[in-house]
Amino acid sequence: MTAVSEFETIAPHGGTLVDLVATGSDAEALAQEAEHHPKLDVRDRELSDLEMLAVGALSPLTGFVGEKDYLSILETMHLANGLAWTIPVTLSLSDEEMKRIGGAEAVTLRPSEDRLALALIEVAEVFRRDREKEALGVFGTTDAEHPGVQALHGAGDWCLAGAVRVFRLPEHGDFRQYRLTPAETRAAFAERGWKRVVGFQTRNPIHRAHEYIQKCALEIVDGLLVHPLMGATKADDVPPDVRMRCYEALFSGYYPKDRAMISVFPAAMRYAGPKEAIWHAICRKNYGCTHFIVGRDHAGVGDYYGTYDAQRIFEEFEPGELGITPLMFEHSFYCLTCEGMGSPKTCPHGDDVRVILSGTKVREMLRSGEKPPIEFSRPEVAEILIEAMQAAG
Ligand SMILES: [Zn+2]
Repeated sequence: MTAVSEFETIAPHGGTLVDLVATGSDAEALAQEAEHHPKLDVRDRELSDLEMLAVGALSPLTGFVGEKDYLSILETMHLANGLAWTIPVTLSLSDEEMKRIGGAEAVTLRPSEDRLALALIEVAEVFRRDREKEALGVFGTTDAEHPGVQALHGAGDWCLAGAVRVFRLPEHGDFRQYRLTPAETRAAFAERGWKRVVGFQTRNPIHRAHEYIQKCALEIVDGLLVHPLMGATKADDVPPDVRMRCYEALFSGYYPKDRAMISVFPAAMRYAGPKEAIWHAICRKNYGCTHFIVGRDHAGVGDYYGTYDAQRIFEEFEPGELGITPLMFEHSFYCLTCEGMGSPKTCPHGDDVRVILSGTKVREMLRSGEKPPIEFSRPEVAEILIEAMQAAG
């Protein structure tokens, strides 16, 4: 645990930045101990959560939640200790795994892919997941078509709870220079002299509308953290490497280097709309952001959530409870009459002079090799997307 320094932008959620990663001889001792415990293969979504726990992105959590917190989160949007929290962070066990390791004192966690042990969980309890309650509490629906509900159905019936100690972080072959931990983004902000930093969550390429929103926010703070989510997403979302090339192209052409930075958010996408908006904001507070951009239908999918649900949910918390300040934005666009970017709040004109394209239309254009208008998408970004779509067939 690291004490909060007076030079930091904002205190982490709960006051202390959690660090579960052992180093040096401690790490070696843990790795040796891990050999003697039963092993559990952890799949991609929960592996993302393990990494987030390890580096303190989920402060104050120091492990996978127990039943008391699980129920409290689902019923009240708070941990049992009263701290705001909206998404249960759980580690699943199937029936078979439960029989094999449910009674162990500690369990070794390793990725199901390479099975290189990473961490130990000290088993505090094993409890049965309440799928219906969890689906309603997190996603607001039990519809099996919802990608979050679908993932929930794929998860085990049991949850293994307890404190985690990590001796090796998950390996990543990509974006290494962008994989800053919360301690590292905080240090980067301090180095740049940023006191007020706005975070932007995205799982998509950035077009002019989101660039505009980010820059509007940047006008009132010191720095911008573009924080793309790079854990698991839906199969039809744009792949991470393509997105990263788009962000890099934008940054090299259109963003001031001393005011904006990119870093990777290792979380998996839940598509939980409002609940995930709050969770995303809390996580970004842990990364040192003082402000967080919440657009329309943040973390939404299909038409499961109302357009403004993810913004309104912030009102359900007491002032100061979340700490981080949400900045709510409308959809924005280029207006030919205004000759600039704007939104329904700032442009009095009609849709006939606003450059608005549906996601479906944009995908169609890109797939056929056609660049969307420069008022919609920077040409450098459009080129990368066209190339990627054509390569994918
Ligand atoms: Zn206008």
